[in-house]
Amino acid sequence: MDKDWKGKPETLAIHTGHRRTPEGEHSEPLFLTSSYVFQDAEQAADRFAGRVEGNIYSRTGNPTVRIFEERLAALEGGERALGTASGMAAILSVCMGLLKAGDHVVVSQSVFGPSIALFQMLARFGVTTTFVRLDDNAAWEQACTPCTRLFFLETPSNPLGVLGDIAALAAIAHRHEALLVVDNTFCTPFLQQPLRLGADLVVHSATKYIDGQGRALGGAIVGREQLVTGEIFPFLRTAGPVMSPFNAWIFLKGLETLALRIRAHSETALAVANWLAAQPLVERVFYPYRPDHPQYALARAQQSAGGGVLSFALKDGDMACAFAFVNACCLMSRTANLGDTKSTITHPATTTHGRLSPEARRAGGVEDGLIRLSIGLEDRADLLYDLERGFAAVAARGGRS
Ligand SMILES: *Cc1c(COP(=O)(O)O)cnc(C)c1O
Repeated sequence: MDKDWKGKPETLAIHTGHRRTPEGEHSEPLFLTSSYVFQDAEQAADRFAGRVEGNIYSRTGNPTVRIFEERLAALEGGERALGTASGMAAILSVCMGLLKAGDHVVVSQSVFGPSIALFQMLARFGVTTTFVRLDDNAAWEQACTPCTRLFFLETPSNPLGVLGDIAALAAIAHRHEALLVVDNTFCTPFLQQPLRLGADLVVHSATKYIDGQGRALGGAIVGREQLVTGEIFPFLRTAGPVMSPFNAWIFLKGLETLALRIRAHSETALAVANWLAAQPLVERVFYPYRPDHPQYALARAQQSAGGGVLSFALKDGDMACAFAFVNACCLMSRTANLGDTKSTITHPATTTHGRLSPEARRAGGVEDGLIRLSIGLEDRADLLYDLERGFAAVAARGGRS
């Protein structure tokens, strides 16, 4: 192959990063080893001194993890990626690598619950946070102070599918000499590439779509060499919240089928969203790729499909209605996880968003009658049949109690 040849993302997801060993293995090897042997004392000295690249210890680098990192970097259009022990470890490592006491960050109020809690914990170390509405660009601008170092957001948001305008928010961040970090867990690089829209760093919970089969915990950070290797890697290699080689092997195999999976998740989710919108007991459906979404144009511009997560509000639905619906479903799993081949059903107000005060929850639009679905890879008609069980249970109750 000529050296300038660069494959399409579907090809990169299958081939990038694997340098075959003398054993001639076809599938990527799994290096379950904590340390590495040096040819002689001189080689050990050179590697420890950083004069020569090479393996030392799996906290500082592992060949299987490296395949995953090179593959994900290629897909996100980043220079360098780092695998981490979980999605939260990725976010923590970004903060520890880039922030110091006295710094300020601006964070979307609609990020994953533990991400909010993590930024609140940073106050103990002198890093302050302002939470703003994801879709209110002026609020991001107004929140900036001379100490602002980072913007952090997820788009689309969970559970209501609100979007952040990545290009616009990157421009605002850069005007204030801050960096934009985007959690791309929901879209994956096959639906959205934040770095190409101006973001400085992407983080992932690989636990979700990158694994895609609900098996392993992991995360990743992607971006420019200078940020990732220069500023974040020193924390990661020292503190050690790194990805295990076994999990890296699962995730790099997950990347090989990710394009097919995320498109199938998205197609079924759109069909389910459209079907739900036509149900008499549904008040409203929240899905970025439906024309009734207030940011539909942005969704079409920024994402190549809507993703696998959607929510809907039951008409006049209180908590008892929502519980009746959730409890009547048999095929979809009652679990808060998402991005799995198995569809899942969640009542956000009492689970993922249960720690918020009722006022904060309602202000964020998470009503008691709201139900979230993560659409898996099952047959579409079977999923609709399961949802019909939910509607039958709500109808049998005669509406609001
Ligand atoms: C799950 C999730 C995380 C945290 O990832 P873990 O792997 O569970 O630590 C972060 N962001 C988003 C959007 C998530 O869904």
